[in-house]
Amino acid sequence: MASKFLLTFAICRLIVAVGLTLDPTELLLLGVEGQLSHDPADVGSASRDFGGLKTAEPIGVLYPASADDVARLVKSAYESAYGFDVSARGHGHSINGQAMTNNGVVIQMSGSKGTRLGLRKPEPPRVSEKFMYVDVWGGELWIDVLRSTLEYGLAPKSWTDYLYLSVGGTLSNAGISGQAFNHGPQISNVYELEVVTGKGELLTCSKEQNSELYHAVLGGLGQFGIITKARIALEKAPQRVRWIRVLYSNFTTFTQDQEYLISLQGQGKKFDYVEGFVIVDEGLINNWRSSFFSPRNPVKISSIKADGGVLYCLEITKNYQESNAGSIDQEVEGLLKKLNFIPASEFTTDLPYMDFLDRVHKAELKLRAKNLWDVPHPWLNLFVPKSRIEDFDKGVFKGILGQNKTSGPILIYPMNKNKWDEKNSVVTPNESVFYVVALLRSALDTGDETQSLDYLSHQNHQILHFCKDEGINAKQYLPHYTTQQEWVHHFGDKWAQFSTRKMEFDPRHILATGQRIFTPSF
Ligand code: FAD
Repeated sequence: MASKFLLTFAICRLIVAVGLTLDPTELLLLGVEGQLSHDPADVGSASRDFGGLKTAEPIGVLYPASADDVARLVKSAYESAYGFDVSARGHGHSINGQAMTNNGVVIQMSGSKGTRLGLRKPEPPRVSEKFMYVDVWGGELWIDVLRSTLEYGLAPKSWTDYLYLSVGGTLSNAGISGQAFNHGPQISNVYELEVVTGKGELLTCSKEQNSELYHAVLGGLGQFGIITKARIALEKAPQRVRWIRVLYSNFTTFTQDQEYLISLQGQGKKFDYVEGFVIVDEGLINNWRSSFFSPRNPVKISSIKADGGVLYCLEITKNYQESNAGSIDQEVEGLLKKLNFIPASEFTTDLPYMDFLDRVHKAELKLRAKNLWDVPHPWLNLFVPKSRIEDFDKGVFKGILGQNKTSGPILIYPMNKNKWDEKNSVVTPNESVFYVVALLRSALDTGDETQSLDYLSHQNHQILHFCKDEGINAKQYLPHYTTQQEWVHHFGDKWAQFSTRKMEFDPRHILATGQRIFTPSF
């Protein structure tokens, strides 16, 4: 009762703040179990994200206790005479304010704040060993999904490199890592969703039931509904991982090997994870070497002749069970023999599966200790068609990025388009193989102009212009645009379907306005 009173009070304040004239009795009927907060600390944290490039203050932050809470709030926004917008926020790891709003309420889907407030935690993960899936709350972090499923010796098949991201947040984009060539992105590994649409309806959807909503939401940038539950496909969890890095000085040889490795999709004899990265300066080589390479592998990297000053590193893993430890060396050797990396540039380590999947968190802790985590991140992620990746290498890695300090990892790895469901909302280039190029750079205030936010942002613009001028039909992943015209161009052939789905599932355009695709109709 007390919490209902607090909620009503809070919403009344919200109404005053936005000048709305909702009838307070209407609000009493909301009956939300969670809490709507105006605490400056809560509002402050919902106004920032990992990018550190944008801020927008919501009018309130809802900590939901259930999917019904989410539905009640969205319904009241949809049905009210004046309306306000609603943004789901997972772990706030977007770059450009995608989970923010300054004209509405943020629903904080992830985190323990709700539990601290004494609210019931929205449903914990529930594993079905028989049918090999897990049902999870939309705000659950992938690290917690993994912990729960490992208790049954099971694990999701497709990952992101970093696990402190929410299920709803990655499924709204795609969710990619080195397993995607074989299993597809995370959005290809979801059996069923429970979604609150922009009309406040709580619906279950899958390929068979409400299929239009299911496909709209997957990769849908939060535009069609708020994911409150997802049913995720599982496999038997490997126990250990053989993790290997090899170097190339020639880009063509590097990409040929990557493409060969992903052509083995679905076969037994293949690596389980294929990624790669670009090394454009000596500084990174040293960091990279000390963090990964064992002193037992003393290769003089400086002695390797880099092609145009750039080196490429292929990163691959082979998963295995301890009972097969006797044959893993031979299996890996057999696969490596087919590759054309620089002789003696091979670095190998072996670790538990969990430690491999959670590897980026270790880097996070190191950066946090040096105050280098909470800095601006002008990241740029692109899907580049295979037919133009050589041009991209010449123009960007060996051109625009030139001799500058890297300022963060630059990932590059290919994916098989046949593992992406065209009915889902995400857009990818129109070729059977395309590359993800991820420039994951941090801006630093060190006095070195080439590491500054302005400089790195300018380089991102240069890269986008280069692609446009050269006719490289790259698509942004985790896209960011500021005009609808740019969004129309981004979605291309899929725009008509995207906007029709918007009219159907969020006709007042109240959801995820931080993406800046549609303007609310109030
Ligand atoms: P938020 O930033 O909180 O939200 C993102 C968008 O999704 C917003 O529009 C929001 O409204 C919407 N949204 C959030 N929750 C829901 C929900 N329940 N239902 C509907 N919409 C919702 N991506 C990869 O694919 N692979 C990677 O390897 C990878 N690594 C990363 C590493 C780091 C360190 C960081 C910061 C990001 C990385 N990302 C990666 C990007 C990441 O997947 C996206 O930014 C993702 O959206 C972040 O999830 P989040 O929970 O923080 O989402």
